[in-house]
Amino acid sequence: KSNTTAIDVASLSVILEKNKHYYKEGVVADYIPELGKVNPAAIAFAIVDSNGKLISVGDRDHKFTMQSVSKIIALMLAVMENGEKSVFEKIGYYGTDRPFNHFANLETMGKPLNPMMNAGAILTTSMISGQEDKPFIKILEMIRYITNNPSITYSQAVYQSEKETGHRNRGMFYLIKNTGAITGSEDQLNNYFRQCSIELTTEDLAKIGYFFANECRRYDGDNRYENKSLAKLILSQMLIAGMYEFSGEYARTVGLPSKSGVGGGIVVSVPHCMGIGVFSPALDNHGNSLAGYHMILDLANEYGLSIF
Ligand code: GLU
Repeated sequence: KSNTTAIDVASLSVILEKNKHYYKEGVVADYIPELGKVNPAAIAFAIVDSNGKLISVGDRDHKFTMQSVSKIIALMLAVMENGEKSVFEKIGYYGTDRPFNHFANLETMGKPLNPMMNAGAILTTSMISGQEDKPFIKILEMIRYITNNPSITYSQAVYQSEKETGHRNRGMFYLIKNTGAITGSEDQLNNYFRQCSIELTTEDLAKIGYFFANECRRYDGDNRYENKSLAKLILSQMLIAGMYEFSGEYARTVGLPSKSGVGGGIVVSVPHCMGIGVFSPALDNHGNSLAGYHMILDLANEYGLSIF
């Protein structure tokens, strides 16, 4: 591995400046009306290096909804509570060539392709125990722990917007319910909408990336959730399905376990090393932050970060 401690504010700034124009070529997600209200030019870039040191540039205080990035936390809790075997009896380990909201496999095999697509994530969230919003609170508390940031909460406006317009997600929820894999009420689906609406910063994303890169140890050394096997599972899912149907090409060009969300954030783990967070809300046609992708690509190339 190259010396990632050589990455400093100046190196991140150069990469951010070089790539910020990409927002003009992307499109801000507006399929959930509330998401369309963001400033398209906002941009931030953060890392937590191998020593746990946080470095960030750009709009580092800008909060955005984590959206699909929350799926890795839901997977973590579902596996912690139920064991990997029982979770993956109901969800596949398959990669994906389909958009995030595709019904792939639900009809033909009766189970979601993987926990990174909506169908699989709706199911993992429903596997977390507790009545009403308790499973969501567990997800929120885990994110607050990993980021060491107790102020993190969720956007009521985005949540309402997701709930009112999430007809495909509701359709998936009922298809899975029809197989018997989900037995609860729509409260469980609402928890999925709530987790997507959790607001955080690019720095928080970098801390999450560091956590999974380092066997579930926090950037400040706290190791109460340390779990090598769980981290390997999550990193493998991020690698094969974390970037929607772009995951294969992304593995070729960047080569790092990553999870993106339609809010414009991407979390990246450099295994046994560091975490990266990027944010820019204009997306490419797969739903990945366009400027975010290019910042990650430049950093990975410059410091030889690809796992391959
Ligand atoms: N809330 C979004 C949905 O389920 C999340 C999508 C995403 O970030 O991929 O529609």
